[in-house]
Amino acid sequence: MPEMLDGKKTIQFRCHKGIACFNACCKSIDISLTPYDILRLKRRLGITSTEFLEHFTFPFEMEKDGIAGVKLKPVENGSACQFMTDEGCNVYEDRPSACRYYPVALLSMRRQDEYVDRDAYALVVEEHCLGHKEERSLTIDEYRKEQGLDEYDALSRGWRQLILKKKSSGPTIGKPSKRSLQLFFMTCYDVDRFRDFVASDAFNSIYDIPKSDLDRFLSDDVELMQFGFRFLRQVLFGEALGIAMRMDVVEERRRKVMDNRMRLEREAAELLSRTEEGEY
Ligand code: SF4
Ligand code: SF4
Repeated sequence: MPEMLDGKKTIQFRCHKGIACFNACCKSIDISLTPYDILRLKRRLGITSTEFLEHFTFPFEMEKDGIAGVKLKPVENGSACQFMTDEGCNVYEDRPSACRYYPVALLSMRRQDEYVDRDAYALVVEEHCLGHKEERSLTIDEYRKEQGLDEYDALSRGWRQLILKKKSSGPTIGKPSKRSLQLFFMTCYDVDRFRDFVASDAFNSIYDIPKSDLDRFLSDDVELMQFGFRFLRQVLFGEALGIAMRMDVVEERRRKVMDNRMRLEREAAELLSRTEEGEY
């Protein structure tokens, strides 16, 4: 168990281009991405989230039977980051949260009786990293500010809360269906596909979203991502978050599913009785 630190803890650390270990930390990566990291990187590279996921990431299971996370995929047949160059990080202004935090690690926790998560930190000291020997002291809060993490953390909070909620709810929520896991993955990580989903006739026939809100979500990735977190809390955890549904359409669909099931059962029974009568 790492020692838990709060933001006021002073650390000694400095990373800069002239340091002897420059790039060492990018040569062997294990970097989990947040939804906002993906949004920034796909925008930086001028590609869709679907393309970004395919070329630069791989999925992993955060916990058994649990929800998926996404990690940066290293170069082919190697462990280095695809964005590493001799000059340093090729996407520096849009580098992921984990790269910004290093050598600090963010630990998000939530008490069972609370919805709000609490942040704590740990210091990661690895032999190859000489930044700890540099003469500079600052608090973790100052370091986070310097690394632009206030914005990154604020925009990923909704996603962290979803994960904490899933972890702490345990068996009461049960094993999510394959469809729920796919919905979670698309909504959190593939914002461009989620946009198509929210814009679709099928979605709008069930959800009654005011036009001005819908236009805002469809024209702004960050707004859409945050709507996605709210949508998942309502759909996966049954929270009433004001995303109105057209109940008449939901009821009609439910009736059709029931009718269909009854028809299938009737056909199966008929087939069975004919088989017993030796018709086949
Ligand atoms: S994204 Fe940049 S900082 Fe992060 S591991 Fe890759 S090269 Fe290094
Ligand atoms: S000081 Fe640490 S974080 Fe900076 S380049 Fe060296 S290994 Fe990477």
